[in-house]
Amino acid sequence: MGQFTFHAQDRLADADTGASGYLSIDLAALRRNYQKLSTAVAPATAAAVVKANAYGLGAEYVSKALYAQGCRHFFVAHLTEAIELKPRLPDDTQLFVLNGLQPGTEVRCADAGAIPVLNSIDQFRRWSSTAQKLGRVLRAVLQFDTGMSRLGLPPQERTALAAELKGCGNIEILFIMSHLACADEADNRQNTDQLAEMRRIAAAFPDLDVCLANSGGVFLGGDYHGVLARPGIALFGGAPTAGRSNPMEAVVRLDVAVIQTRAVPAGTPVGYGGAYVTTTEARLATIAAGYADGLPRSMSDRGAVFYDGVRLPIVGRVSMDSITVDVTALPEGALSLGSLVEVLGPHQTLEDVAEAAGTISYEILTSLGRRYERRYR
Ligand SMILES: *Cc1c(COP(=O)(O)O)cnc(C)c1O
Repeated sequence: MGQFTFHAQDRLADADTGASGYLSIDLAALRRNYQKLSTAVAPATAAAVVKANAYGLGAEYVSKALYAQGCRHFFVAHLTEAIELKPRLPDDTQLFVLNGLQPGTEVRCADAGAIPVLNSIDQFRRWSSTAQKLGRVLRAVLQFDTGMSRLGLPPQERTALAAELKGCGNIEILFIMSHLACADEADNRQNTDQLAEMRRIAAAFPDLDVCLANSGGVFLGGDYHGVLARPGIALFGGAPTAGRSNPMEAVVRLDVAVIQTRAVPAGTPVGYGGAYVTTTEARLATIAAGYADGLPRSMSDRGAVFYDGVRLPIVGRVSMDSITVDVTALPEGALSLGSLVEVLGPHQTLEDVAEAAGTISYEILTSLGRRYERRYR
């Protein structure tokens, strides 16, 4: 990946690399987003959720940029992610594994220096016996399920666990945590219900701090912040709250090259299944990204790309490696082979693409494929 310069005005694919799609990741915007979230949660601290390769943007680049901005707490989902990332992070960081501690992985987790989010009493006991076996004190986080029924201890086990914790000298619990199911919906009652449940749980652990808010939770207000917030999507420019203007800066831009153009008469079928048929004379362009590159097939006949601010609708089905768009709205000859059209950028947000695809920004981001040339700025 190395050194490069990205110019937003770059209009042509770079024949030297042969790449036909460019995913540009603005690390300065990422850092400003982190700063904004930190300010929003102060005096609490903002962590960074960098699971799934930092939502597809590159966990190492992202984590290092965030470290430079003061971030010291990082969350991944899988132990394998932690094993890969931990050696690339400075020593004064904490790296948490959200999915918990799977049987047989305890020593690997300890050796990696990863901190498991313990999701059951069994996980707690196995971590404690590992600590005993290794003759060390091991750090951990305790997660409770406050109403999502996904991960975490049932709230009613809090008393038993608190008692067990008292007699346990080899586990240091850094904080208790839970996850909000509806934090992107500011008025959803489930948010206040989960907060109330978390407070009942916290009362059983008077010495421990609380960690609750994801991106949406940051904007639900100070009651939700605890000591440590865990934003993910907002760092990467996704909207934290549905139906509200997005306070975050875009971090990702995706430009894809035109690989063929043609003019066709009315009545011409386009793409697999002939699912679209032109109704007038039209000019078409085929661009070099498809569902294997993270542009869902559900965008067929619904999504669009942009060129010079002009919307170019997707016509026909999204193929594995390409998409055909109607470029009749552009002046003839405006596009040629190698011209770059905007898939994500100033004219089309992550949320726009997600809506056209019938999904959420998270799925779009994490699906962006490996065939793009990634340019970090
Ligand atoms: C993914 C995840 C987050 C980050 O959520 P965003 O909505 O992306 O901010 C935080 N906490 C947990 C437990 C998660 O699984």
